[in-house]
Amino acid sequence: MDIVPQPESPQFAATYRCIRGCPGSYDVFSVMYRCPACGGLLEVAHDDAALAAARDGAGWRALFETRLRGSGVWAKREWVLPQLPEEKIVTLGEGWTSLVPVPQLGRDLGAGDLWVKQCGISHTGSFKDLGMTVLVSAVNQIMSAAGSTVRAVACASTGDTSAALAAYGAAAGIPTIVFLPAGKVTTAQLIQPISHGARVLALDTDFDGCMAIVQEVTQDDSIYLANSMNSLRVEGQKTVGIEICQQLDWQAPDWIVLPSGNLGNISALAKGLALARKLGLIDRLPRLVAAQAQKANPLYLAYRRGFDRLEPVTAGATSASAIRIGNPVSYEKAVAALRDFDGLVEQAGEDELADACALADRRGLYTDPHTGVALAVARKLAAQGVIEAGQRTVVISTAHGLKFSEFKVGYHEGTLAEVVARRRNPPVELPADSRLVKDEIRRWLDET
Ligand SMILES: *Cc1c(COP(=O)(O)O)cnc(C)c1O
Ligand SMILES: [Zn+2]
Repeated sequence: MDIVPQPESPQFAATYRCIRGCPGSYDVFSVMYRCPACGGLLEVAHDDAALAAARDGAGWRALFETRLRGSGVWAKREWVLPQLPEEKIVTLGEGWTSLVPVPQLGRDLGAGDLWVKQCGISHTGSFKDLGMTVLVSAVNQIMSAAGSTVRAVACASTGDTSAALAAYGAAAGIPTIVFLPAGKVTTAQLIQPISHGARVLALDTDFDGCMAIVQEVTQDDSIYLANSMNSLRVEGQKTVGIEICQQLDWQAPDWIVLPSGNLGNISALAKGLALARKLGLIDRLPRLVAAQAQKANPLYLAYRRGFDRLEPVTAGATSASAIRIGNPVSYEKAVAALRDFDGLVEQAGEDELADACALADRRGLYTDPHTGVALAVARKLAAQGVIEAGQRTVVISTAHGLKFSEFKVGYHEGTLAEVVARRRNPPVELPADSRLVKDEIRRWLDET
């Protein structure tokens, strides 16, 4: 029942490898993001044989069941970054978010046995915390090595990555620089890195423009790149799928639906589930659904063409601003994940996502627009008969609704573009007169 992470597990070594299979493996504490041979993304490769030799599936399950408190990421440390020294871990208590059954919402959406994994109920209000604890811990290790040239960490962000990087950087005492598309993140998302002391650079461009700049800025080794093309983040984020199965008594659901933008998270989800299957903790895999906003849907378009190739789009304005991405960096990894998990891609428009959020809020959730995209997609797939009656679906909620007050206010004021706010609930303004107040309450109760 340890809260503090245990000593490193040096018997399990993880290394960087090229996702396209080029030969060579590299130190995970070196400053590199792409394969030197082909320019493809790297991934962290674990010593699966050593992990399998150490324990069978039941043994790993039993071990993980002894670590139900503290960080949900470092509870799986042998599978995450085994050679990280314990004292280098930077944690803010991420993971172990609740998995909530929402049968009434399931009925509203026609989506049967529906559950929501509340990744947004986390330190900085999004699932990005899961990956950032690993990346910042690794940077903590890198910067402590003699001769390290790294002086700061930087990322481009649609708002949640920057909040997480700034918080974990502040916790570690590591300077952070965040690149944001000016005017395209929420007030809450903007004030988070400002409060943590990050250097906030608001650029007159979109996310894809910020991404291009941060890649140039991080070419020299003094600034470490924290975007999800950095595969260390994937190692933390991959624990979410394992955690979902654990919370379901090691039974995989039939479907997992998640909102997808840069496509790091779906790649991570698949990587964790595949390892859990390979090491015998679960006996089957769920099918995965990448849910995209119609205004930012390059993966959906590629899917409809049989994944022939990625054709970047200019992402349009959507309430789901954290997935407003036209040129997703982890496209190749996501396609591999979707193929391995018999997955599919579906999209939702502004009205569909807003209505799904409103329905969910009426059932007691407080739903961010990205989770709205995933719920709307679950509704669509159920209506099409793809998600069948009786099947269990887990929707990954990626952020906290409280970060998206502008969206909620816009909905209830009826000012969101392309949205018919069917469930508007504006406040009633009345004089301070008890008779009028009683009349109003009676009228309302009669209507409900
Ligand atoms: C980052 C983010 C996503 C998308 O994750 P990707 O890994 O970029 O696909 C979805 N929802 C929220 C709230 C996010 O912050
Ligand atoms: Zn390569």
